[in-house]
Amino acid sequence: MHEKGRGTIVGVRKDDGAATTSAELRAHNLARLLRAVHDGGGQLTRAELTRRLSLARGTATVLVRDLAGRRLIEELAGPVDATVQRARGRPTGVPSAHVRGPVALAVDLRDDSFTVAVFELTGRCTVLDRQERDAESGTGMLTDVADRLRIRGRQFGDRVIGVGIAVPSPVRGSTMVQPTLTEWQDVDVTAALGPSLACGPVLTGNDATLAGLAEARRGVLRGVPVALHLHVATGIGGVLLADGLPVTGAHGSAGEFGHMPLTGSDEPCRCGSVGCWELDAGARGLLRAAGQPEHGDRMLQAEQVIATARTDPRSSRALGLAARALGRGIGALVNAQDPEAVGLSGLAAEVYQADPDAVTAGYLSTLMRFRRADPPALLPSTLGDLGALTGASELVFDAFLTPRGLSAWPAPEVRTEEKTA
Ligand SMILES: [Zn+2]
Repeated sequence: MHEKGRGTIVGVRKDDGAATTSAELRAHNLARLLRAVHDGGGQLTRAELTRRLSLARGTATVLVRDLAGRRLIEELAGPVDATVQRARGRPTGVPSAHVRGPVALAVDLRDDSFTVAVFELTGRCTVLDRQERDAESGTGMLTDVADRLRIRGRQFGDRVIGVGIAVPSPVRGSTMVQPTLTEWQDVDVTAALGPSLACGPVLTGNDATLAGLAEARRGVLRGVPVALHLHVATGIGGVLLADGLPVTGAHGSAGEFGHMPLTGSDEPCRCGSVGCWELDAGARGLLRAAGQPEHGDRMLQAEQVIATARTDPRSSRALGLAARALGRGIGALVNAQDPEAVGLSGLAAEVYQADPDAVTAGYLSTLMRFRRADPPALLPSTLGDLGALTGASELVFDAFLTPRGLSAWPAPEVRTEEKTA
């Protein structure tokens, strides 16, 4: 009955990957080409895209023209980087983001602040708002996020194809199932923020998972077939990525590596388990090792310990202990998951860069012997604070860059023509 009900309620559409008619084939190729422009960050020439997608040259020309006519792309004369002058109107060039093309809004929600950014098709990011939590409550901060999204939604109008939200909690679907802030317990983020915007889906993911997704798409894990990513803030989260896709578990809440007993004893953890890795590594572990009670912004506190480690023996010792604990846990996870490389972001990157020898010593000490000759590289993120935001934007583009997603693109001029026709 359930199956039957679904079949009758949901509009039946063919799988996005299966194209049987020429119209479907065309829609499929348009989505593939636009996806390739997105993945390539607007740096690939039309010839390179044509080769990469095994398209006939004439077909690619027609597809590019079609996408340009729908304000999805515009062709520039050369790659958009610091060394190349941007110039328009040349027939052979680099398909790039249209100035009035689709954008994704992204939110990095944290316990004590939030950031809103906008991403163009090619991944170019502009941070729009950063706000500390001045609201008395976590609920108040969600209201502030909704207000900012409404304002930015009006600013970008029907260019907005959706909103991605990175949240500091394990999620089931779009619900925060174990946030640090008790008021956020069981809050469905999509339901809370969705009404802020008229257009596009609101998609929610765990911040560490999205940081990993960002590394696979735009960062140090790009092109790595099987990668492990670790994002360390107050706690430690992360994700295993297979062919660039996060393995998020049956409910979306995999990757809570900080709550595995990788280094600990029987000590109880805030999560309900015992001996958790984050008690020894991450901001929590670092502050404990430094003998500092946690107060206010734990990340800032932890960064201060790292910053004073060169001159203060107590900080130096704490950094060494936390770094070694970080490394030991990484070794255990590599034994379990056999990745090609391990990405590190947030405090993990900072700890690694501040004391690489201690991290490496811990790492090699727990790696199984057969892995030690050629251990997976530890790769500090280069995306900095933009990791979770970038991952959140990728959720939105993943939904958009399909035949179905593109069919909803309003393309104002086209729509007007249709109305008057
Ligand atoms: Zn725990």
